[in-house]
Amino acid sequence: ATFGTLSDRLTETFRNLRTKGKLTPADVDGTVREIRRALLDADVALPVVKDFTASVRERALGDEVNKALNPAQQVVQIVNEELVGILGGQQRRLQFAKNPPTVIMLAGLQGSGKTTFAGKLAKQLEKEGHTPLLVAADLQRPNAVNQLQVVAQQAGATIFAPEPGNGVGDPVKVAKAGVEHARRQQHDVVIIDTAGRLGVDAELMKQASNIRKATDPDEVLFVIDAMIGQDAVNTAKAFQEGVDFTGVVLSKLDGDARGGAALSVASVTGRPIIYASTGEGLDDLEPFHPDRMASRILDLGDILTLIEQAQSAFDEEEAMKVAEKLATSTFTLEDFLEQMQQMKKMGSMKKMLGMLPGMGSMKQQMENFDEREIDRTEAIIRSMTIAERRNPKLLNGSRRLRIARGSGMTVTDVNSLVQRFDQAAKMMKTMARGGVPNIPGMGPV
Ligand code: GDP
Repeated sequence: ATFGTLSDRLTETFRNLRTKGKLTPADVDGTVREIRRALLDADVALPVVKDFTASVRERALGDEVNKALNPAQQVVQIVNEELVGILGGQQRRLQFAKNPPTVIMLAGLQGSGKTTFAGKLAKQLEKEGHTPLLVAADLQRPNAVNQLQVVAQQAGATIFAPEPGNGVGDPVKVAKAGVEHARRQQHDVVIIDTAGRLGVDAELMKQASNIRKATDPDEVLFVIDAMIGQDAVNTAKAFQEGVDFTGVVLSKLDGDARGGAALSVASVTGRPIIYASTGEGLDDLEPFHPDRMASRILDLGDILTLIEQAQSAFDEEEAMKVAEKLATSTFTLEDFLEQMQQMKKMGSMKKMLGMLPGMGSMKQQMENFDEREIDRTEAIIRSMTIAERRNPKLLNGSRRLRIARGSGMTVTDVNSLVQRFDQAAKMMKTMARGGVPNIPGMGPV
């Protein structure tokens, strides 16, 4: 599928990182090199790759990561943010005119998927309560008008086309008449399908540019086949110079495209990708979300949500406090209790693990983990005096019995907690030397 290889390679790169605690500049360089190769192999344009890797490198070597709780994840997050950036940042929706009809003109090479997209858009707009009119201004290709007619019929949309038998009409006049027709017939959106050529040529550009001038569209959407590969950038630039466009439609994202077009076009033209076309059916159309696309490429599942949760639960300050306590051996059951509560803030752990890709073995381990365990632990610690919480060595037999009764647990439960606390304290001491704070029963976040 689209981005499959790119995804695999980036995931692999991050997997290698994930096992590391602190990152050295050599780690960062190695990672950046891998990312660069993966992007180039996915046909992403060289200038885009250069900018991208330079930003990632700079940020990954910066303070941002050095101070981070988990540098590896921080790098993943940086890559994600930069990826969202080159995909256009914020989602951009179709813009409608204040005074209808909204005029949407389509441009792009022949075979890019313009006609198909026209039908898809008409269908989607109808579903949203609009009354689109499709205008057949592609008079170049013998069969184009016919094709739009078929698509319009499937979409249940009205079409405006020159009368058959009228010879080859003037596409500019047809487009203009289409808009006037829409105004008279109360269509609130006009979608103008224009001619494409197999390659970029001057005449085509001039025609498209004239249609633009004649109809003053609210949106000019440049439809580009995601499978076009390295040609994406040149084609997009040619259309930007020749006609200019307000937004991009990526078509055939369902194919085996290596993804380069998607990753290059928005960044090179500075125009947002508004739709992704993902199949031959008229329902295969999605509004484009840069953030979701980036997650898909990075195959992160919801790992970023997870990182955010982890970060807000164990914020940096908290981590420092714990590290400090560990260093001075003053980590107590009170701190343990506090950490437990932080864990609860992080929500259901099983759900969280479900969000982590590549955590199969960990997930199995977690199947045995009972979240109520935290509640029980809390109950036990709460039944201790402050002195006991600060110094578990005070916990002799009679104190343990009292605590068991107070918390509604057994002495065995209390013993087991104290034992786990000891283990945790030991484990955390190790972690304090460069790793992430950790909770027993749970691996590094
Ligand atoms: P136009 O010349 O720009 O109008 O392109 P068409 O709309 O005629 O599309 C060219 C070919 O690509 C047709 O065979 C379409 O069925 C196909 N096509 C268009 N969009 C998509 C898409 O999103 N996915 C796939 N798989 N095929 C598409």
